[in-house]
Amino acid sequence: MKICFATNNSKKIEEVKAALGSNFEIVSLQDIGCHEELPETGNTLNHNAFQKARFVKENYGVDCFADDTGLEVETLNGTPGVYSGRYAGEPRSDERNIDLLLKNLKGKEDRKARFRTVIALILDGKEYDFEGIASGEIIEEKIGGGGFGYDPIFRPDGFSRTFAELTMEEKNEISHRGKAVKALIEFLSNRKF
Ligand code: IMP
Repeated sequence: MKICFATNNSKKIEEVKAALGSNFEIVSLQDIGCHEELPETGNTLNHNAFQKARFVKENYGVDCFADDTGLEVETLNGTPGVYSGRYAGEPRSDERNIDLLLKNLKGKEDRKARFRTVIALILDGKEYDFEGIASGEIIEEKIGGGGFGYDPIFRPDGFSRTFAELTMEEKNEISHRGKAVKALIEFLSNRKF
């Protein structure tokens, strides 16, 4: 089965391809000739995920899924949340986002945080959504060279390593996106065609 993953993030495509296995062929936005920025103007992950998926369906006519992820820090009232990508302003920079978050958490004892992903799927004219959550804590400085985004400062519960120190397979097993993708795969696999 062929389906477009509506993201411009090649790391995410890699992660999802590894999780989906060979029953599904994931095509990228480039593969369908979409080279524009997808709109993402809502106040919730759900809104943004559907906004991106609908944009691709309406303009390129392909079934697709889109994800939106936020890092929710408990002591910061769930922020940066839906604004995680633009936390330190435009242009988006993982490094500046991390620096700002570490600054805002300086001296705080409670460093609990969670990543939450919503996947919006448009398939055969119907819409579905899936969610995945990974809980952990924000450490005090960056560790690890893998992954992307906030990975070097996020240590998932039950691990002594950050997301940036895990292999892609290890991260996929426990990550927010991995869990949301698992729910998506389960849905697609059980679906009668
Ligand atoms: P988006 O869903 O790509 O818009 O992600 C929003 C923000 O969360 C961006 O700053 C991403 O870098 C970050 N982000 C999304 N997924 C992950 C992840 O798996 N690890 C670390 N940061 C992530």
